[in-house]
Amino acid sequence: MPTRRQVIIGAAASAVSALAPSAPAIARAKPKVVIVGGGAGGASVLNLVSAVARGALDITLIEPQRALTTCYYSNLHLGGVREMETLRFGFDAIAARPGVSVVHEAAAAIDSGKREVRLTNGAVVAYDRLVLSPGIALDYASVPGWSREAEDAMPHAWTAGAQTALLKRRIDAVPDGGLIVMIAPPNPYRCPPGPYERASMMAQALTKASKTRARIVILDAKDKFSKQPLFQQGWEQHYPGMIEWQPPAVHGGVKGVIAATMSVETDFETYRDAALVNVIPKQTAGRIAIEAGLTGANGFCPIDPFTMKARGHNAIFILGDACDGGDMPKSAFSANSQAQVVAEAIAHELLGGAAPQIAYRNKCWSLIAPGDSVFVGGEYEPTEAKIREKAGEISGLRDTPETRRTNAEDSEGWYAGLTSTLYL
Ligand code: FAD
Repeated sequence: MPTRRQVIIGAAASAVSALAPSAPAIARAKPKVVIVGGGAGGASVLNLVSAVARGALDITLIEPQRALTTCYYSNLHLGGVREMETLRFGFDAIAARPGVSVVHEAAAAIDSGKREVRLTNGAVVAYDRLVLSPGIALDYASVPGWSREAEDAMPHAWTAGAQTALLKRRIDAVPDGGLIVMIAPPNPYRCPPGPYERASMMAQALTKASKTRARIVILDAKDKFSKQPLFQQGWEQHYPGMIEWQPPAVHGGVKGVIAATMSVETDFETYRDAALVNVIPKQTAGRIAIEAGLTGANGFCPIDPFTMKARGHNAIFILGDACDGGDMPKSAFSANSQAQVVAEAIAHELLGGAAPQIAYRNKCWSLIAPGDSVFVGGEYEPTEAKIREKAGEISGLRDTPETRRTNAEDSEGWYAGLTSTLYL
């Protein structure tokens, strides 16, 4: 399994060779590439395509936020391990690249027949190829009693920024002996180990504040979860008695929440006067993908595993959390890996570069405590039906503390490498 550096450097190198445009292609009018969403998926495509097109493409990034906070690593802020400012990135460096324009608006509608995107301000942007990486939408109705209005009282922090800062303040205000209830989502969702890393980081913040009598109850929609034995071992070791995980067979189902009384009702028990309720709801592809009719039965967008194109669409690519990535988990690492296929396909079609080399990969680290990081990784291949896992790796229960520390360093290196490549 390659390291983070090998992946990023290898990606750039293979993309450069595959994308190298032929001279006659450059002589024609500039083809238009429109990218919706400047997060991990969209910014990765932009980075790769703009680097090799060197001005030969007219690239427009549509992204409403002027600065974004990465969801990846936001749990570390909750644990008091990272400052929020280190997770925020603007788009100035992207806007300075040759041939790139950044428009800070949201895409409101897609007309795939006319190959146009309409923005919320009414402007219309034409495309030859459209890349959609709008991330997720939260299904507010999936937890009875919860709503957009209730998200201040019971934050989700599953999109990062103001919600992350709010959740951090609320964790810090939990008294010793206080109760935190986390509602964990059903599959598929953004970052499978994310809720459990978050519980670890909540316990870390409480422990650092000497509030070890506080309790975190996770009411899960799933019978099992990513890296479960590793997390449960780590919880015993670092935070004994603080984190209780309940599968549906134990709680019987979440019946509803009441923000006014900070209550969570399950089939088995009602939790009242919780100091904090963190609702992580069911998720779907971002709204623009739903409204464009690109989502399937599970709320995410079916794609051609060989090209990352939306099924049935020749000029629209969908990657990142919004797509149905088969066996690939929804992660920034996956989105970056998918971006290489998208970028190579675009260069192949618009600039006469080589056909895409397909090598999907993922590696997700989770911090259980400072210096104690575990990972899960995989290599994937396209098949007609889906992107399928062909090899996997995972941290061991008997790894030495030194190995865990090295994992933490690798993870830091991955974050710094990815974000500086994309935004700085
Ligand atoms: P995003 O990064 O969310 O980007 C989507 C962008 O699209 C946003 O900037 C949004 O403003 C924009 N957008 C949305 N709608 C529109 C529209 N209509 N018009 C224009 N723009 C629009 N992944 C890892 O690899 N490693 C980790 O350790 C990790 N930890 C995580 C921890 C947590 C708590 C969470 C929640 C996630 C974590 N992830 C991690 C997952 C990672 O954040 C996502 O998988 C990744 O950000 C997905 O990239 P994306 O481009 O699909 O979506």
